[in-house]
Amino acid sequence: MSEWQRAVKQDSVATLEALAERFGRDAIDVEALGPAFDSFQMRITPAALEQIKAVGDPMWNQYVPTVQELEVVDGVADSLDEDADSPVPNITHRYPDRALFLVSPVCATYCRFCTRRRKVGDPEKIPLNQFDSAFAYLREHTEIRDVILSGGDPMMLSDRRLEYLLQQLRAIPHIEIIRIGSRITSHLPERITPEFCAMVQKYHPVYMNTHFNHPDELTPAAVAALDRLSRAGVPLGCQTVLLKGVNDDPKVMLELMHRLLKARVRPYYIYMADQVAGGEHFRTTVQKGLEIIQALRGWTSGLAVPHFVIDAPGGGGKVPLLPEYVESITDDEVVFRNYEGKRFVYRQPAAALAARLHGVG
Ligand SMILES: *Cc1c(COP(=O)(O)O)cnc(C)c1O
Repeated sequence: MSEWQRAVKQDSVATLEALAERFGRDAIDVEALGPAFDSFQMRITPAALEQIKAVGDPMWNQYVPTVQELEVVDGVADSLDEDADSPVPNITHRYPDRALFLVSPVCATYCRFCTRRRKVGDPEKIPLNQFDSAFAYLREHTEIRDVILSGGDPMMLSDRRLEYLLQQLRAIPHIEIIRIGSRITSHLPERITPEFCAMVQKYHPVYMNTHFNHPDELTPAAVAALDRLSRAGVPLGCQTVLLKGVNDDPKVMLELMHRLLKARVRPYYIYMADQVAGGEHFRTTVQKGLEIIQALRGWTSGLAVPHFVIDAPGGGGKVPLLPEYVESITDDEVVFRNYEGKRFVYRQPAAALAARLHGVG
């Protein structure tokens, strides 16, 4: 067993003990939380535990169960209807040229807001022994040029298993790029071993989309892991989830984006929190997300501004949302405001105006 595998072996009882030791026995009501544990297990790596500084802080809120998980208002289990778009086990094929491939049922640490909490942590729901039909599907569908490995966390697989997956995918000529969606650089940075970095380079282009929600997650160990990946030629992006009590504040988001860029990670998406049963207490308004984008765009490097998207409930896919910069669009002109709220006018090409006057086009 490698060092990182030993680090995730500790069970939730040990984690509860560690939490009680640091924050006091009253910090968690284990009895009241029983059903929350039952519906979605708790698992927190030592690295994630280390990031929790106080009860109810942004890290605590992400990883420690609360009774609020049991209050289901309008949340649903499969809020993105992923199972409806699954032609074979482990594959969700929703967009024309890319597919999601669930390759691991487990994560190093479980995020309480997880969209896939219905499946994650349960090896029966993300089976590891049914990859043949998934590979056959990817081989047959020559329109798929981008495969996103997800789960659970793909980086919980051994290097041997990951290499097998990468080899199988690279044997399919129409697959151009492979992406790994993983939160491991935050939760278990030691997983990014020199051996993994040497292996992954043989299968480029392999991208990694990381997942950081708060600036304090960019610990020295996480930054070092990101550096190893960059040196291995893995382009890094970050998917952040907008979460009440974690990062629903423009100042926090700005600092997060700056710290990511310093670690050579390009912010990619900010997601609206999904309407998933058990995670509703993390939801905030869409206006809050727009306010955050408005506070970033123009005020800081464009590189620091991710796309703000809602993954449409019911399986519509990701839809980008922008603050309202445009006041009016006609064939003559476009009136818009800049990041400071100043008004500007862009004249449309004269040809469009002439064509309209002459009743053609
Ligand atoms: C997010 C997602 C993708 C990838 O979308 P991009 O916008 O290309 O990052 C692909 N398939 C599914 C089902 C997804 O949810």
